[in-house]
Amino acid sequence: PLVYLNGEFLPLDQARVSVLDRGFLFGDGVYEVIPVYGGRPLRLEEHLRRLDDSLRGIRMTSPLMRSEWSEIIGRLIDGVDDQSVYVQVTRGVGPARDHSIPVGVRPTVFAMASPITPVPVTGVRAITLEDIRWRWCNIKAITLLPNVLLRQQAVDRGCAEAVLVREGHVTEGTASNVFAVVGGTIVTPPKGPELLPGITRDLVLELVRAEGLPARERAISLEEFSGAEEIWITSSTREVLPVVELDGRPVGRGSPGPVWERVSALYQDFKRRLKRGITA
Ligand code: PMP
Repeated sequence: PLVYLNGEFLPLDQARVSVLDRGFLFGDGVYEVIPVYGGRPLRLEEHLRRLDDSLRGIRMTSPLMRSEWSEIIGRLIDGVDDQSVYVQVTRGVGPARDHSIPVGVRPTVFAMASPITPVPVTGVRAITLEDIRWRWCNIKAITLLPNVLLRQQAVDRGCAEAVLVREGHVTEGTASNVFAVVGGTIVTPPKGPELLPGITRDLVLELVRAEGLPARERAISLEEFSGAEEIWITSSTREVLPVVELDGRPVGRGSPGPVWERVSALYQDFKRRLKRGITA
């Protein structure tokens, strides 16, 4: 399978980037992960819009037009049913290692398709940790060292995710958004600079609201979160995943909850419609 690099399609082991690339030196770049089902990208327009927003957030503009992105992504998908496409744009190769943004450099554009790993259905364990990240978490930056170190703390304790807490309120996971069921209502933190505006998050809200299930975007305190009837994390690669144990204590009855069952069914149904080409 070929990858895309700066206008060319080539084998992965031939894709080369300069050590002076600002992505390598400074983590100066942004990315997207787009899930693909039945050979069709899920919410492509929304992913490309968020990529534009991330680029604008780091004082860049999109190096390619929408139609060019679609074409590249379509070629990488190459008829394979279920996979994900990774897209990364860095500021490019500067003349020297200098923090200041150089003028007139060409961005480095990389994209590849990867297999998707099946999502566990039994639920996962999670811990809460202080959100030590910067304050522009709405930008999908490749600079992921805090996320890596926080996630590893979760893994070290046998958990699949760390849910992050800033000033007493949950923000999101290290690579996911969070939902809780509190008093029968589905709640998720509001969009803002403290979290990534997840495409899966928005899709889940859309699906549950279309079903008439009560859902609200509002701040969630750690205390409230810890006592929630249900907790889920959402992401393009993990879909809607129930958290059955938080900080060593069972969430609800310690197994995936009834609201999750409904929402998960709605999500799977959406994927089936996408595969049949009757939604996007
Ligand atoms: N928050 C963070 C920090 C993430 O890295 C991700 C996944 N990349 C998400 C939320 C979920 O976003 P999406 O549903 O668009 O995959």
